[in-house]
Amino acid sequence: DPARDASTRVTPMMEQYVEIKAANPDSLLFYRMGDFYELFFQDAEIASRALGIVLTKRGKHLGEDIPMCGVPVERADEYLHRLIALGHRVAVCEQIEDPAEARKRGPKSVVRRDVTRLVTPGTLTEDTLLDARRNNYLAAIARARGSSDDSYAIAWIDISTGEFGVAERDRIGLQAEVARLAPGEIIVSDALYGETDWVPYWREFRHVTPLGRDVFDGATAERRLSDFFHVATTAGFGPMSRPELTAAAACVTYVERTQLGKRLPLSPPSRESAGAVLSIDAATRANLELVVTLSGDRQGSLLATIDRTVTSAGSRLLVQRLSAPLTDVAMIVARHDAVEAFATHRSTRWNLRDTLRGCPDFARSLSRLVVGRGGPRDLAAIRDGLTTASAIGDALGVWPERTAEISAHIEALAAINRDGAAELTRALNDDLPLLKRDGGFIRAAYAAPLDELRALRDESRRVIAQLQAQYAEETGVKALKIRHNNVLGYFVEVTAQHADKLLTAPLNQTFIHRQTLAGQVRFTTTTLGELEAKISTAGDRALAIELELFEELSSRVMLEIDVIKAAAQALAALDVASALAELSVEQRYVRPTISDDLSFAIAGGRHPVVEQALLKDSGPFVANDCDLSPPRDKGPGRIWLLTGPNMAGKSTFLRQNALIAVLAQMGSFVPATSATIGVIDRLFSRVGAADDLARGRSTFMVEMVETAAILNQATERSLVILDEIGRGTATFDGLSIAWAAIEHLHEVNRSRALFATHYHELTALAARLSRLHNATVRVKEWQGDVVFLHEVVAGAADRSYGIQVAKLAGLPMPVIEKAKVVLAQLEAEDRMSPARRLIDDLPLFAAVKPTEKTASADPAAAEIAAALATINPDDLSPREALEALYQLKAKA
Ligand code: ADP
Repeated sequence: DPARDASTRVTPMMEQYVEIKAANPDSLLFYRMGDFYELFFQDAEIASRALGIVLTKRGKHLGEDIPMCGVPVERADEYLHRLIALGHRVAVCEQIEDPAEARKRGPKSVVRRDVTRLVTPGTLTEDTLLDARRNNYLAAIARARGSSDDSYAIAWIDISTGEFGVAERDRIGLQAEVARLAPGEIIVSDALYGETDWVPYWREFRHVTPLGRDVFDGATAERRLSDFFHVATTAGFGPMSRPELTAAAACVTYVERTQLGKRLPLSPPSRESAGAVLSIDAATRANLELVVTLSGDRQGSLLATIDRTVTSAGSRLLVQRLSAPLTDVAMIVARHDAVEAFATHRSTRWNLRDTLRGCPDFARSLSRLVVGRGGPRDLAAIRDGLTTASAIGDALGVWPERTAEISAHIEALAAINRDGAAELTRALNDDLPLLKRDGGFIRAAYAAPLDELRALRDESRRVIAQLQAQYAEETGVKALKIRHNNVLGYFVEVTAQHADKLLTAPLNQTFIHRQTLAGQVRFTTTTLGELEAKISTAGDRALAIELELFEELSSRVMLEIDVIKAAAQALAALDVASALAELSVEQRYVRPTISDDLSFAIAGGRHPVVEQALLKDSGPFVANDCDLSPPRDKGPGRIWLLTGPNMAGKSTFLRQNALIAVLAQMGSFVPATSATIGVIDRLFSRVGAADDLARGRSTFMVEMVETAAILNQATERSLVILDEIGRGTATFDGLSIAWAAIEHLHEVNRSRALFATHYHELTALAARLSRLHNATVRVKEWQGDVVFLHEVVAGAADRSYGIQVAKLAGLPMPVIEKAKVVLAQLEAEDRMSPARRLIDDLPLFAAVKPTEKTASADPAAAEIAAALATINPDDLSPREALEALYQLKAKA
């Protein structure tokens, strides 16, 4: 049946589309057609829903209507952004030949097209798609199965800046790294992605991409990585374990895939060892609101409070530092030295910040140029960045107060090839178009052939202006104009009433009619046509030369990628150091003393975020001391047990001390009058968790999971902040858990700790636990109301003032009165409280670290273990074996 045949025939274009789509099944396909990217079939349905754009039809495929929608090319970034944010991946398919070429092959042949790029959340380079103040990481997670424990590696890349890191961790440590990096996209092997006990974890992230074995193949990892960097072996990058190699190779393979083979200017992977940074688990990080608040905003976080950087790159580095405070005393001190130098020398600091303020984000421009998505403004950014860098290098190079760290940055700046920047200055115009294909970005007098073509073009334009005068004269139509538009090119235009004069009068020139509009008639002439052709060929040739020069200038820049990247990093570090100095002067922060011992002594500490928020409305922030240093400078540090009514300021106090530690170790000054901190290896906090309904856990469950993590992992070097644990369950349960947790912390973990509680019974523990110290937040009763003094003093709270606080909150008066009666009754009975008696009766926590238990807690077991260790079963005769068994039995 021929009719049927016609309806099921597949057009050549659809054939091409279907083929390309089949090769990219997981991505929405943006199929270029002229000035639009079109989406078809299911892609069109998904995109039209996601983007709120009209769904239409275009022809038929196999007898069915083809759903279609489209986005204009010049607004594609905006739509890409929204699709990526919603978790989609997009394959961008371009026309890779001039449509004229296709026509030459035959009237029906389709323009060649191919996917030139895969857009995924972790592999973006465009400024419009990126947050200037945050790194956008792609992270790969690889696992190595171990005989006892699996080990994991994570590699991360920010392709917009070229940063590349890798680390090996246990499962908990891995999750802490993921929380630190907050990757835009995570890639994992199909196998790990599908594993039952990992599935809930992946669900916490919006963008997890499972990939096949080829990407996560350990056997080929080393080769893929060395191929990428064009080196013979990866040994030069320092020793890397097998999972590290696998994760790093997965990253580069994925990047190559999404950028379709363009070699990005990645730094070689830098390995981060486990102890180098203060480890902060995901819950603690979230609770302390370091870079975002619990609700996910930057505003209100510690980062927003302390960020005084003036460049995007500086702001990104500050996020990195705040997310990964150091543990090495010398490195921390070096950072403090730099901050101090800038804090004491105001004019140097101000000059530096003024110069930096105009510095563009040239690290990201560099990456765009490499992947071929750069424009003239990216070259200008490199020019301006290098110029700024040289100016700063010169100024600081002669600064007598420069510290070792600052000198290292100056060295990086001194390595810049100044001819490169000068060349760009000579080459580029002051005002630049966004796109290179718009042309006009090369300065006059830079390239002679370009100047000639431009002169030709300008000359022709002048001739056209003369022509207008000549035509007006000859025809006697004074209002005759020569105009230009994109459809007709140049044309002669007169009002309708004069049109006849151009067609009838005997003239030197024949006017050829082109178009009649309501009031005007348009003509052309042979002379005008010739001039037009001259102008447009001159224009095309000029553009071709400009594009060539663009490539030439870009490739010159590429030759110095490493130096330029290092300069960008040095400027970012100088921005951070001077910004922290600015902050410390502005907010009266002091330089902390960092030591290798277990001290933790803060005098006059303040909460950096609450303090700055308070200044705006109410009274000043009340500063408080905190001393967790070991008593008599020996042994483990102390635990403070903090009691006091709700709203007194307990949480604020707990958090401020954790934040001060984070600030000190990231290299900042701190909000206090003095601070001495023995380096902390891990920071734990359990403060006011919210219900985690998404994962089906109650508040209490979350609290217990987090508390368990702390009690299992905290060491003598750790700082632990526990706020009101046990609150989420019945009184006796809660009290018991809090009690046991304090004892465990004191006897087993022996960490420095702050423990806030509303169980007053616990204060009695101080009598039995030598390093436990009771503290309370003072309140005053005034005319039956409670007044919060926010002052932390030694001792225990006498009462909880819950009813007064409830009154402040506006509970109805009858409820308040009734509550007072109930309370009086309960307090009378409290003298017989079972908890009171327990304090005296219960034996102390069996304070033995679980690992030591088998060896030391049970002497018989230790002896048996020792005996067993001497036996080699292969050497024994059956008789000797039986004998040995009797001996072992006797020891038990
Ligand atoms: P708690 O944990 O004891 O219930 P919070 O720490 O939540 O109390 O503090 C309650 C409020 O008191 C905070 O929101 C803050 O505005 C204020 N506050 C806390 N500490 C101080 C302080 N040291 N100086 C001034 N105001 C404070």
